[in-house]
Amino acid sequence: MKPDYLPTLDLKRNYHRIRQEIQGALNEVLDEQSFILGPAVSAFEADVATYLPVSHAVGCASGSDALLLALMALDLKPGDEVITSPFTFFATVSAITRLGAKPVFVDVDPETYNMKTDAVLASVTDRTRAVIAVHLFGQMVPLEEIDEELKGRGIVLVEDAAQAFGSWRMKKNEPVRAGAWGDLGCFSFFPTKNLGGYGDGGMITARDEALARRLRSLRVHGSGRTYFHEEVGLNSRLDSLQAAVLRVKLRHLDEWNEERRLVADRYGLLFAEAGLNDVVQAPTVLEGNSHIFHQYVIRCSRRDALQAFLEEQGIASRVYYPLPLHEQRCFAFLGHGKGDFPTAEALAEDVLALPVFPELTASEQERVVDAMAHFYGQS
Ligand SMILES: *Cc1c(COP(=O)(O)O)cnc(C)c1O
Repeated sequence: MKPDYLPTLDLKRNYHRIRQEIQGALNEVLDEQSFILGPAVSAFEADVATYLPVSHAVGCASGSDALLLALMALDLKPGDEVITSPFTFFATVSAITRLGAKPVFVDVDPETYNMKTDAVLASVTDRTRAVIAVHLFGQMVPLEEIDEELKGRGIVLVEDAAQAFGSWRMKKNEPVRAGAWGDLGCFSFFPTKNLGGYGDGGMITARDEALARRLRSLRVHGSGRTYFHEEVGLNSRLDSLQAAVLRVKLRHLDEWNEERRLVADRYGLLFAEAGLNDVVQAPTVLEGNSHIFHQYVIRCSRRDALQAFLEEQGIASRVYYPLPLHEQRCFAFLGHGKGDFPTAEALAEDVLALPVFPELTASEQERVVDAMAHFYGQS
């Protein structure tokens, strides 16, 4: 008998763990019949503000909108520069170009896949308005030096924490969570994120009261008072059904993130046991970081052949990301070409995301690593 297909993420298993709580929370919203920015949304915003903790949390329609709203609140103008990584999801960069500002890419670290501090600092000019630090795959960018330097120059630090809800990094002797370190934090609750809703959703966190007020207005067409518009904003609201689901899930998140960490540790042990350490580079966790493994991304030789082999064995895997953003056709106007960001380009050739989710079992992980060992002729 063929074993079941192993997906990279199985949301049904997660739903079964919390089915009753979710249904209770959804029923409350249904009884209330208040669907957009209702009491469940305010309650979820307060929960997030307490959890991170951060002064202000503003729900919106998606992670992409969170980034766009954050940059709109900074009044980015054409010619303004925003430093970020070319090795991230598209929305990090489209938010910049949509406002007519210029993305300034810096290369990434070959072990953490996050942008390099020295490259960021070397790219600051008098036109730099913001830096978007992307905490890729669930591990935070080491922000301490970047933050210091930006503060001194009046440049805004925006965190793209779409893949890193609950992740933290030690700052002096205190852990600081993703989205609570910089001036603005952007989150996505797309269903596959480690804190995912049952539809689209997003959130912006802010330290500054005035910025938070601006964000609350921008998400409702730039109006403070209904039908009176101070400026042109977006229609970008979180809905109450999503907020109700997310409130339930947030209560379990630390436990689930811990389970993801155990899955990651187990992959490491299994690679060593199978003698795979020469052909597979497991993700590196920086000192002082608590990685939440939104994705478990290895670097490996003969990536495409390995992926095809795993697929034949009924094991899913994914490539995040196959083409760095500086090489995307829609950003050709920036004038970049192959060779500009060699580490990002090398990663695009050899990264592979293996199945990772809190409910993944040890025997399923053994199956993945056995198949890999078979492919590399180690067993
Ligand atoms: C998912 C993601 C986004 C966008 O979130 P959506 O909710 O899908 O719009 C932005 N940045 C990163 C790094 C992401 O992973």
